[in-house]
Amino acid sequence: MPGTPARDTLSAMSDPTTALEFTPAVEAATAAIRERLKDVIPDVEWAIHAPLIARINELKQERNATLVVHNYQTPEIFHGVADYTGDSLGMARYGADTDADVIVVCGVRFMAETAKILSPDKTVLLPDMEAGCSLAASITGEDVRRLREQYPGVPVVAYVNTYADVRAEVDICCTSANAVQVVESLNADRVIFLPDRYLGRYVETQTDVELINWDGACEVHERFTADELRGYRADFPGIEVIAHPECPPDVLEEADFVGSTSGMIRYVGERRPEKVVMITECSMSDNVAVEYPDVDFVRPCNLCPHMKRISLPKILRSLETLSPEVELDPELGRRARRSLDRMLAIGRGPGQG
Ligand code: SF4
Repeated sequence: MPGTPARDTLSAMSDPTTALEFTPAVEAATAAIRERLKDVIPDVEWAIHAPLIARINELKQERNATLVVHNYQTPEIFHGVADYTGDSLGMARYGADTDADVIVVCGVRFMAETAKILSPDKTVLLPDMEAGCSLAASITGEDVRRLREQYPGVPVVAYVNTYADVRAEVDICCTSANAVQVVESLNADRVIFLPDRYLGRYVETQTDVELINWDGACEVHERFTADELRGYRADFPGIEVIAHPECPPDVLEEADFVGSTSGMIRYVGERRPEKVVMITECSMSDNVAVEYPDVDFVRPCNLCPHMKRISLPKILRSLETLSPEVELDPELGRRARRSLDRMLAIGRGPGQG
């Protein structure tokens, strides 16, 4: 068909990954990372990842860029190219503290917005702008204004899994680790809590403050069921079950431990259970298993489709083109920062996200 070869040539030229090969130099440059990942990534996949990892790590130097990577990213990103790994707030705080000119956020859009709020003068890149979140998408700033009209004088707490227009309207932000502390810091009998109804219900079990919960949910964590957890206990006697508080209440009742992503990682590191199942996004287990080869992980696979939009080729393209860049109206960023700063002022808790 006339025209097709020209289009193919054009797309190949615009794709920075096409010229990359698994050369001996690439193999040498990535040997240490390969050694760490040998049990989670097969050879055939490594031959594809390694040239991308090598080029991304070179480009980071050339661009004075830092890569902040969420716990739910795949192992080749988490262990291959990250300068910081952790939860969303940790990612943003690290980005703000570094001397890098460019922050590449390997996570979802609300995380990239948090990074931009804390680093308004830096270039913040999100390799795929379509990386959303069912929780963040469940509420807008307009919804918060309506809630305030409906419940005059009741303070509003927003989980950090929200966009800047929501954070600009609330009194204070919280993470999954410090939510109870934040709610109680307001010294109110009633608090509006948004957007995660399950995290809200979990907080209610830990405090006497009455919560008015928004009806949002994480599409990954709400899929877990208590039956599924009982099944793990029946199939793997002695297994320790640890769950994220975005899961439904009956799931949390079945768990041995409930905590944020950072709390779950710490639990495994400190207790070194013989066998464990992490009731959260499935890449977490892959990433933590690399650190603790002595622990046997049972791995349920509930993927976050938004997190999985980020890939090595997209990260490379982002560094090559310095796009897509997160833009935020400075006034909106300033207002959104207030609720974040209030949370930071009362203490962050041991981890979140
Ligand atoms: S795991 Fe849930 S809360 Fe996290 S980004 Fe995905 S949809 Fe949002």
